[in-house]
Amino acid sequence: MAKGNPPHKRITKQILIISGFAFLITAAAFGLNVLTQDKNELEIDGKPNVIATFFPLYDFTREIAGDRINLDIIFTQTPEVSSFSPNDIEKINKAHLVIKNGIGLEPILDELILASDNKDVTVADTSEGVIFAENPGDIETHEDEDRHQDHGLADPHIWLNPQNAIIQVKNIRDALIQLDPENAQFYRENSETYISKLIELDQRLYIEISALSEKDFIAFHSAFGYFAQRYGLNQVAVIEEFPGKEPSPKYISDVIRTIKETGVKVIFSEPQFSPRIADALAKDLNLTVYPLNPVETGDISRDSYVKIMEDNLLTLKNALR
Ligand SMILES: [Zn+2]
Repeated sequence: MAKGNPPHKRITKQILIISGFAFLITAAAFGLNVLTQDKNELEIDGKPNVIATFFPLYDFTREIAGDRINLDIIFTQTPEVSSFSPNDIEKINKAHLVIKNGIGLEPILDELILASDNKDVTVADTSEGVIFAENPGDIETHEDEDRHQDHGLADPHIWLNPQNAIIQVKNIRDALIQLDPENAQFYRENSETYISKLIELDQRLYIEISALSEKDFIAFHSAFGYFAQRYGLNQVAVIEEFPGKEPSPKYISDVIRTIKETGVKVIFSEPQFSPRIADALAKDLNLTVYPLNPVETGDISRDSYVKIMEDNLLTLKNALR
């Protein structure tokens, strides 16, 4: 018989070894689990709270930051006319960073920040580095002095040229990196991926719009200046004198004169506004109304900047062929 431990002792030893391993494995798993839990808790609590003022900036920011930040939005209606609620002040109170368009698009944002307990919150102006154009649209349609003063204001609708959107994405990326340097690499990689999608979108728009024979259109409000400039289109007039306000009869008669003078055949309405005036003009002057989305609002659960711009391309191919 071989020397060594008797069989029952050997079994006991094996059981001890096995249970020892089992204990170690359980302990390791338990320890790991505890660690993971701690880390998750830290991540949830440690995520920066970021607010984008309106839809396209919300969409750009989520493309770059994914779930590394808590992201919220203030203006779900067009930011030019939005009012705010106590809930919006609460959002500002908790924010580590506010991302705005700038160029006067969000007139009540400063008021909102002043009303909050977070007056020194960092605000990233995404228009930095964009070459501004004058507010277009209503240029030839009225003469009175008051209105001419408005022409000195730059057009805030920069995001409708994807080349400007790319500058805005880079500004958001830089603001996020400054806020949360630990995730810098993540933000850089995501913004690169997204910028290549925007370059593709711009190329597709450029090629397909260049091929259209009609170039003139009437916009609902003066949103499409940068878009028209980029793709060789001509926003000959706008229906709304001021965003969110019914145009005056004098203003509408100027628009009608412009329509007759230019022979423009297409009016674009916007999904978030009543097409009543556009429809009435179209009926009287034998024009066709098509919906064109200025990407100022969107359903954050299903819309995206790229998707809306692609839908707009389909509309333009129908309207200006
Ligand atoms: Zn607008």
